[in-house]
Amino acid sequence: MQTNFTLAQLADTDLNEANSILRACVHCGFCNATCPTYLLLGDELDGPRGRIYLIKDMLENNKPATALVAKHIDRCLSCLACMTTCPSGVHYAHLIDQGRRHVEETYRRPRFDRVLRAVLAWVLPYPERFRRMLLAERLARPFAFLLPRKLQAMARLTPRRLPPPGLVDESRVFPAEGKRLKRVALLAGCVQKVLSPAIDDATLRLLTRHGCEVVLAPGSGCCGSIIHHMGRDAHEFARANIDAWTAEIERGGLDAIIVNASGCGATIKDYGYMLRADRDYAAKAAKTSALAKDVSEFMATLGLKPAAIMTGQRVAYHAACSLQHGQRITAQPKELLAKAGFKVMDVPEGHVCCGSAGTYNMLQPELAGALLARKIKNIESLKPEIVAAGNIGCITQIAGGTGVPVVHTVELLDWATGGPKPTALN
Ligand code: SF4
Ligand code: SF4
Repeated sequence: MQTNFTLAQLADTDLNEANSILRACVHCGFCNATCPTYLLLGDELDGPRGRIYLIKDMLENNKPATALVAKHIDRCLSCLACMTTCPSGVHYAHLIDQGRRHVEETYRRPRFDRVLRAVLAWVLPYPERFRRMLLAERLARPFAFLLPRKLQAMARLTPRRLPPPGLVDESRVFPAEGKRLKRVALLAGCVQKVLSPAIDDATLRLLTRHGCEVVLAPGSGCCGSIIHHMGRDAHEFARANIDAWTAEIERGGLDAIIVNASGCGATIKDYGYMLRADRDYAAKAAKTSALAKDVSEFMATLGLKPAAIMTGQRVAYHAACSLQHGQRITAQPKELLAKAGFKVMDVPEGHVCCGSAGTYNMLQPELAGALLARKIKNIESLKPEIVAAGNIGCITQIAGGTGVPVVHTVELLDWATGGPKPTALN
């Protein structure tokens, strides 16, 4: 694609990067074929190629975003199916990040949207605030029908019962069972440890059972992806995690930083890029990104112990976009589940997002609902006994649309190798 940035613009690191990304695009439109929003709406501006043109126009001409541009950029799920499909290697993820930032900086959204986004950004990355908000929401639930549509969508996603805090609520070290083979850090995270602490507990048991000493580093918390995908600056979250893990590296060394929410993993693997222009953090950020591993990716290299029980249950494996497109991890979770004795089935149209996408299901409830309905139809066509996924967002979204129990892949691996049966299966 021809671009027309001035030399002065190209002196800017971000615009220079945008220029390189845009120039790789040959506007073939192959990416439209796998884009969920193009699939639903059939509008060129709701596909990756159209969005690329919108972003190019804003950045090249330094134009403020209009309501129309914001609408089409906001409808993007950042699922990155387009990156998997693109034959020219266009790095759409880094371009849409710039596009979102530009919209955030130059467009004034309607008041309700501004407040809703501000509240989500203020609450979700902080577990204590999120826990309190969920408790307040439970009191208000009988009046949910009085709420605007977007708030009703939020209410539908909150759990009926708030689980008690799990093991990762405090910074500490969990010793390896038997001989220590690896020393790893586990991302403490934010939303997941409130909604489903059982996932972190299962991860801790699985890792320690396989000879890993697991560190919950003081100062590590939200990875920043929630606000990053809203076009806001997430660098402070990244720096806090990098500082926490760098201190651990200096204290006892780390073989890996384990992430069990693939949306967070994709962001942490991008810290090196996010902070590439920060003199104090660029090297540490690159090191952090290199150490970051999805739990399934790590377990595949470590090797799963023989299963203690082989249930042979039919598991529909839902590939989270941030795992399959964002991190290009596709085979490992399925191979681990098969080794653990489950009959693993691929969900038809597996490349299409379930509609969760961070805060998307709250900010774009209609589109998210249409994608969820499509996903549920595809999942239920397999007649599974269990659905497994590697991302809390997908788990919450899918569980809201089906009676089939939805669990994290690690909960099944933990169960099969000696842990308790996941509560959702009881
Ligand atoms: S598939 Fe790649 S090269 Fe083709 S239009 Fe889409 S982003 Fe551009
Ligand atoms: S990230 Fe997903 S929704 Fe956005 S343009 Fe690409 S394929 Fe479409």
